[in-house]
Amino acid sequence: MYKIQTLQNETSSMPCNLCSDSDVSVLATRSRSGALLRTVICKQCGLVWSDPFPHDPRHFYEEDYRVDYKNTYTPKPKHILRAGTVALTRYSKIKHLLVDQQTILDVGTGGGEFAYLLKSLGHDLHGIEPNKGYAEYSVAEYGLNLQIGFIQDGQFNNESFDAITIWHVLEHTEDPCFVLSKLHSLLKPQGLLVVEVPNIEAICQAPKSTFHEAHLFNFNLDTLRNMGDKAGLVDDGHLLSDDAGNVTMFFRKAASDTIKSDDWAIADNADRIIAVVQGHTNLKHYLTTIPYLRFLRRMYRSASEKITVKNFDGNKNLLDQLYQDCRSN
Ligand SMILES: [Zn+2]
Repeated sequence: MYKIQTLQNETSSMPCNLCSDSDVSVLATRSRSGALLRTVICKQCGLVWSDPFPHDPRHFYEEDYRVDYKNTYTPKPKHILRAGTVALTRYSKIKHLLVDQQTILDVGTGGGEFAYLLKSLGHDLHGIEPNKGYAEYSVAEYGLNLQIGFIQDGQFNNESFDAITIWHVLEHTEDPCFVLSKLHSLLKPQGLLVVEVPNIEAICQAPKSTFHEAHLFNFNLDTLRNMGDKAGLVDDGHLLSDDAGNVTMFFRKAASDTIKSDDWAIADNADRIIAVVQGHTNLKHYLTTIPYLRFLRRMYRSASEKITVKNFDGNKNLLDQLYQDCRSN
């Protein structure tokens, strides 16, 4: 069993999005910025969320988009380089699961770098992005086929996609179970869903950086897998990033609907997560090499980005050069 300090039992202001229970413990009371943020963990299944939500999720992103809409979004080359490098890493995680010219939806397309990579590899790529500035930029720059809005409201035909990717979006949504159910309905039978979220069990970040306002929900492998299961999706493997900071789950849509359980409790999961969070102290963190290596890696990345972007004229040109090897393989 896990050795943990006793946390106070409380009741959440909303039922658990996974198991519907309201019996929670308070994991933290501050965000990474030091602001008040009550983070709770469901004692039945281990799902972690901000309770109450620190903002209206839709309003939060609409505010963002208004700012971006007024100041037309044009990313700097170093940001394109970084996002393009991330896109290549993401592609390397899924390329063995794709076949030629599939119909693919990328949810939360952002600046469009990943979607552009898939499009340029011959896939029929669709995207949806709530930030109008990002969306308009990526349509103009890369010719992407995008809807502007939230996936919850997306206007796509049921069973129309061979694959759907949703990278670092699910944790921002107000009802992740509904989002996974919606994606399930959009997939063809046996279709592939790739979901990547931050891992609540990660210890690569400073302890005080674990919780912040933008992430309404926090998952570990077990809660993400169970939420997919609840939405009718079958576990088809997973990856953890090298620093264990991100978990990538691969799901398949079952060929036919199976009878679902109505009990989504996960034995010992809450205790396991509480033990990791409580054990990740400042003292332990700064006595390891992790924060110093992280700092050096960031310095190196920043310096190499400055050198690399000098050689390119235009953001699309930069991505085309970056993706050249990937396209020719
Ligand atoms: Zn729960």
